[in-house]
Amino acid sequence: MKTKFCAYCQTEAATLYRIQTQREGKSWVFVCEGCCIKAKTQPGYRYGGTWQGYRH
Ligand SMILES: [Zn+2]
Repeated sequence: MKTKFCAYCQTEAATLYRIQTQREGKSWVFVCEGCCIKAKTQPGYRYGGTWQGYRH
């Protein structure tokens, strides 16, 4: 299984969420579930899909 590190809290996870907030501007970041939930309250939040390590 492949893993990635959350762009916000650096936690290693097999499932990450591709998101964008005002903080990222026009670039996308991969974050863990907890950070994704927090990011939903941020201005400019956009969801761009889920990344799952076991599919690759
Ligand atoms: Zn995180």
